[in-house]
Order: sequence, then structure tokens, then C-alpha cells
Amino acid sequence: MRSYFRLKSTPEKGRHKAYLQILEGEYAFRLDSGVQPPFETYKNATKELQNIIQFCLQNNKSLRARGSLWSLSTAAVTDGRLIDTKALVLVFEVPQALVNPVYTGNAKKLRFVECGNSVAHLNDSLFADGLSIKASGSNDGQTIAGALSTGTHGSAYKFGAMQEMVVGLHLITGPNKHVYLQRHSLPVMQDGFAKSMGAEFKQDDTMFNAALVSFGSFGIIHGIMIETRSLFALNAVRFIYPYDDTLKTAISTSDPTLIPLPPEAHAVNVDQPYHFEIFLNPNEGAPPNEAIVLLMYETPYDAATYVPPQWNGGESGMGASGLNIMGAIVGNIPSPLNQLAVPFLNSQVKDEFAPYYKRAIIRDLFRGEKTPEKTKTLACGIGMSIANAIEAMDIVFNTYKNNDIVLPLILSFRFVKGTQALLGFTHFDQTAVLEIDALNTTETREFLYQIWHALDSANIPFTLHWGKFNAYLTPSRVRERFGNNVVDQWIASRHRLLDDANVRQLFNNSFMTQLGLAS
Ligand SMILES: Cc1cc2nc3c(=O)[nH]c(=O)nc-3n(C[C@H](O)[C@H](O)[C@H](O)COP(=O)(O)OP(=O)(O)OC[C@H]3O[C@@H](n4cnc5c(N)ncnc54)[C@H](O)[C@@H]3O)c2cc1C
Repeated sequence: MRSYFRLKSTPEKGRHKAYLQILEGEYAFRLDSGVQPPFETYKNATKELQNIIQFCLQNNKSLRARGSLWSLSTAAVTDGRLIDTKALVLVFEVPQALVNPVYTGNAKKLRFVECGNSVAHLNDSLFADGLSIKASGSNDGQTIAGALSTGTHGSAYKFGAMQEMVVGLHLITGPNKHVYLQRHSLPVMQDGFAKSMGAEFKQDDTMFNAALVSFGSFGIIHGIMIETRSLFALNAVRFIYPYDDTLKTAISTSDPTLIPLPPEAHAVNVDQPYHFEIFLNPNEGAPPNEAIVLLMYETPYDAATYVPPQWNGGESGMGASGLNIMGAIVGNIPSPLNQLAVPFLNSQVKDEFAPYYKRAIIRDLFRGEKTPEKTKTLACGIGMSIANAIEAMDIVFNTYKNNDIVLPLILSFRFVKGTQALLGFTHFDQTAVLEIDALNTTETREFLYQIWHALDSANIPFTLHWGKFNAYLTPSRVRERFGNNVVDQWIASRHRLLDDANVRQLFNNSFMTQLGLAS
């Protein structure tokens, strides 16, 4: 047996001390000893996960798989038992004979990935094969299952969020039941693949799109089939640019090519834009005169000449988001924070956002986080149509100005192509994610409530990142944002996959109840 149970005598706090959750304890797995062939090890882990479900059912314990606990909401916790999946890190090439002949993608680039692989581990594993993930968040500490379960995104605005890479899910849905699920409209594997692991084979678009973003409530995601691509490099340019009409048009049309690059990057080929992100510091002015722009353009990867950019592991990575930046400067933020302290605060932000021009692959861009262990940071991702982005940002600025209080926060936009996941919060055709990253204080939380209410008053439809601060969500607000039809389809899919009411109950938690999705 690789799994064991450990009691938890202190409440779980989550990363960045986002919450306190009392729980009984958690199961964990020992790393694979390599004694058995990897696929046998995988199948044994499936069985062990089923035994855990069985035990929790018999003993009336709630259960939930968790990744790195990077979620700043309570999506990943429960009052019963968790499963720490971080030692489940196998990565498989796919048996070519079991790929569906109608699959038009490159079968050699498919990978079947065990749930607990961190993005960093997966990046390394793919790199060894000359491959890359297609999209990443700003850092690489999340697990692959955890990342897709809340809809983690970067700013791959022509591709989408991380779950868009996924073309198959191996879900453990009961003590005696597990399924391999893929879209009916995208048949990647044949049923022989499901059989090879003893799973039921299901092909259903609605069920698949429901399970993709399902925050741990569709059972345990044990394996994930992803499409990868050949390694590619990105010309990454961070620079200061006026917050003017050109930039606003780029935002409202999600077209970074409208923004001229700084002189040092003039030679960059802009035919294949990849990443589009902007940061605005409201303490420089609401609105500020200038924005910090981070653009990345694709360029071929050449193994012979590629030199990873130098990076001190204790620093923020080059793809650092607003959350990283707030975490990085937290120790230097003056207290009390008042107008006198603003110039110093702004100089700290400027330092962390220093301009650069580098060429690197995803693995070397989206990584390190500098936030000290004890820091309480607050992050919120507000998904909306790009058409509403500027108006929404104006609302944020006006609210900030009217409050007349200095807050330690940074604003940003990341742009994400719309997702097919039923409850993907990046579901607008072209989604602008307005991010408010801050220290976690009573005042910053209050500010977020003001913004949410103000956006609703202005009739701007918006969603909230499931893995970030989203306490505004209630059952009716979830239904308003996604529509009754979509929410009902999601719930019905859960019932079809988890057809035993006791198993569904096992995988409910208070987060699900808060959202009106526990059933
Ligand atoms: C420093 C930092 C940077 C971040 N950057 C970004 C970013 O750039 N973009 C972005 O969108 N978000 C970002 N986030 C949010 C983060 O990516 C998400 O909250 C993500 O879900 C966390 O992944 P995790 O592995 O820690 O999963 P957890 O937080 O542990 O779990 C997330 C959800 O996945 C479920 N889950 C995990 N494993 C399984 C499994 N095997 N089976 C079933 N369910 C499972 C859990 O139950 C939970 O509901 C960031 C957070 C931090 C702290």
C-alpha cells in the first residue's frame, strides 16, 4: 500500500493563509518505488483511491482530493478527510494502437498525466521530450488536476485557460466505479484505453465539459489526457506604456498587436502573439497615466542555442502576476499605509515590475513566487467580456478614488479565449480577467465587495475565479452568471457520473453548498 492517513491537529490554512478549515486529517501517498511497471502502479493507485472512498462512505466522512492547496477560496477543503495527491506523479506516453484513428491531432504529443503532477514537474517531464504545455498560469506550483478544476488561466489569449489542453479524464466516481471520459465530438482514445485500466468508457460532450471545471466534486480525477505541443519560445517584453486610447482599444478588442513595442524589442516578429497582460497601479492615479504591459510573441525554439534566462529561485518569475508582486513587496509595505507612504509603495511596485526583454520557454517564464510563508494575500479574478473591460476598470478607479483610503493593491487584466467548460469562469467568447491583488485586510476585502456590487449595479455581467476570493457568490448569483440551463446541465452531469447519492454527498463541501451546487 502506498497510501496512509495522517491526522491533522491544527486547522488547514491554505496558501497565503486564506482561510481556516478544521478537518480530521488527510490521506497521502508514498512516492512510487519503481518496483512495478508504471501502469501497474497507476492501476494500484486507482484501487487504493477507491478503497479510501469505500472507507469514507462506510464511516460517514466527507472526502475531497486536493492539489497544492494554492486556492485562496475553500474549494479544496472539507471538514472530513482530504487526499493529498502530490505523490501521484506518473506521466505516460499514449499507446498509439489505442488512439482513435479519426483523431486528427498528433497522437505522439498526447500525454496521460497523473493528477498530482505539479505544473513544474510536468514542464520538466515534457521538456525532456521536446514538448510543452499549451498554457500556464503565472506560476508552476499548482497540480495539473487542481489547476484545471478551478479554471486556472494565464494570458494565452488565443488559446485559453489550462483546461483547454485536456481531452480525456479518468474519474474515480465510487468505490467500485471509475470512468474514462472524453468528448463525443473529439474522440481521442478508443475504448480499449479505458479497458486497459478497467474503467468504463464514456463519450459525452456535456458531461466532459461539466467535469472539466468541477472543483473536486466529480469524484477523484486520477488521470488527465492532455494535448501538448512542440517546444516553442516566447519573446517576452515588459514595458511601460501610456494608459491611453491605443491601450484601451487594445484591451477592448483584445489585440496586443496595436501596442507598439519599445525600441529594444522592435525586431520582434509580431506575427504570432501569445500573451497579453497589463497592470495598473491605482496608487499612481486612478486612473494612472501609465500601465505596465507584458506581451509575449511566439518564436521558434532552438535547442542548440537556447539559454534559459538567469533566475534566482527566491525571486518572482518573469511571468509574475499582481499576486506575486504584492507578495514580493509585502515586507516593505509601510504601516500605517497613508498618503505619505505612497511614493515608497509605488517605487516598490516599479522595482518589481522592472522592464525587461527576454526570450524563454513557458517552463522558464512562469515560475517562482517570492511571497513569504506567513503572508496573507488576497486575490480576486473577475471574468467579463472584453467589451466591458474599460467600463469595469473605470468603476474600480472611481470606487478607489471615492474611498479616499490608500490600499495595498494592484490591478491587472489578463485576456483568455473563452472556455467550453460549463462552469469555466472564463466563459465569455474573449474573456478579460480583471484581477485585484492585494494584502488580505478588512479594508481590501471590503473594497472587493464594493467593486462586485458596483459592477452588478452597472449591469456588467461577470464571473469570479473559483480558486480565488469569491465570497460574493451565492446560489442565485451563480445561476445569474452562468444561466439556469448551464447550471442544471452541470448538476445533471454530476448525477449521471456520481449516480449514488451517498457518493455525491461524500464529495460535497461547504463551498459547494455556498454556491448552491451541492446535491
Ligand atoms: C501564488 C499563486 C499564483 C496563482 N496564479 C494563478 C494564475 O496565474 N492564474 C489563475 O487562474 N489562478 C492562479 N492561482 C490560483 C490557483 O491556480 C488555483 O486556485 C488552482 O486551482 C490551485 O491548484 P492546486 O493544485 O493548488 O489545487 P487546490 O487548490 O489544492 O485545489 C483546487 C481544486 O481542485 C480540486 N482538486 C485537486 N486535485 C484534484 C483531483 N485529483 N481530483 C479532483 N479534484 C481535485 C480540489 O478539490 C479543489 O476544488 C494562483 C494561486 C497562487 C497561490
